[in-house]
Amino acid sequence: MNVSDSERAATVLGDSGFEITSDEASADIVLINTCSVREKAEHKLYTRVGRIRHSERAMPTIGVMGCVAQLEGETLLRKIEGVDFVLGTRAVGRVAEVIGRVLNGEEGIVDLGEREENYDWTVADTHRHSPYVAFIPIIEGCNKFCTYCIVPFSRGRERSLPAPEIVRHVEQLKASGVKEVHLIGQNVNSYRPDSQDGLQDFAGKSAFSKLLRAVAATGIERVKFTTSFPRDFHDDIVEAIETHKNLCNWVHLPVQSGSDRTLAAMKRGHTIERYYKQIDRIRNASRDISITTDIIVGFPGESDSDFRDSVKMVEYCGFDMAYIFKYSPRPGTPAFALPDDVSLAEKTIRFLELERAQKASQNERLRRYLNKTVQVLAENASTRSSGLTGHSTCHKVVNFSGSTGLLGSLVDVKITEIKSNSLFGELV
Ligand code: SAH
Ligand code: SF4
Repeated sequence: MNVSDSERAATVLGDSGFEITSDEASADIVLINTCSVREKAEHKLYTRVGRIRHSERAMPTIGVMGCVAQLEGETLLRKIEGVDFVLGTRAVGRVAEVIGRVLNGEEGIVDLGEREENYDWTVADTHRHSPYVAFIPIIEGCNKFCTYCIVPFSRGRERSLPAPEIVRHVEQLKASGVKEVHLIGQNVNSYRPDSQDGLQDFAGKSAFSKLLRAVAATGIERVKFTTSFPRDFHDDIVEAIETHKNLCNWVHLPVQSGSDRTLAAMKRGHTIERYYKQIDRIRNASRDISITTDIIVGFPGESDSDFRDSVKMVEYCGFDMAYIFKYSPRPGTPAFALPDDVSLAEKTIRFLELERAQKASQNERLRRYLNKTVQVLAENASTRSSGLTGHSTCHKVVNFSGSTGLLGSLVDVKITEIKSNSLFGELV
């Protein structure tokens, strides 16, 4: 979501005549997009501004956007010397206007306002992270209030974009040569637009699976979506993937814990049994679907036995990949009031053990790709070898032999070697 917001900020600024550079040292204005989901992410802002301030260069104008900006607002101006303006998560559309005011000498601008009614979600081709892949926000914000999480506070309430607008966006991207769209949101499957416009053809399905079907019908080559929230994950999403070849065979379904006690304390709203049923349904699908997840270790009150349940869960689910995090208390969240009673040393021990269990199960699962042919979008020249690199439909990084003339095309690659984080293969 932050990458997508940065792309939109660059688009707005580009349209207003600013020149965008990724070379911080030569920039007159530095705009820092921030994450506050864990304390470590938040600290990066402080070190980054400090580094600019202590460098030899002339001091640029510095603006902070994203979640830290939204949460801290005006205090950032006082807390971090060198910060000139603050732009909240829904103020991206006004970035050029705000910078204009700063350049005119106005001081202390903090815009934490709402999104404009006619906000334009599109990103200029030149500012996308890839010429062939585009992120499309379909829902913003979060209403779930999991007890550890800052996102409902930094991103506000859920708001779904109208389906016809999303479909039009995909059609435009397809016409301009984009091969893959990622429908993004904190919880894409909580998608609930105000109107059923554009979704009427798919009666009896959940709104998100209707949207998936409508997007698949555009004929765009590949559609991925992230993140899915377990409580709202219905079978008809799997059915949509089974039915439409261009809906990619990858589901990111964060579980957070394998213990019912911890899941309840986190207020995730489901049991581990129910999650296992969803995993079973995905595993039994007519297509091979890869499953990835997020897990937190060391949530307040997590006992050794709760942690064992998470290890068992990882072994049961056989994730293709898992992002594991040590619990980080976030001021303002309900869990912040609980004692952070798993020591950092213990969190690290649990993190490493869970990572070991996950790696073992992942290596085992990835073996199913050996000698199989997968479709890969050739995205970049490899930095390590002379070949190319890209993602498979199941969102694995695949390195393969091939010349740069193939960039942007969808190619079949036979997998010859498996590593934890990537696959290696040869063009078929
Ligand atoms: N909406 C998604 C997750 C968005 S946040 C979902 O509900 O699944 C991305 C991930 O960051 C979460 O899945 C969680 O694993 C992690 N995370 C969020 N808050 C955290 C915290 N306080 N400490 C550690 N990890 C956290
Ligand atoms: Fe955070 Fe829970 Fe919302 Fe995900 S669903 S963004 S973890 S509050």
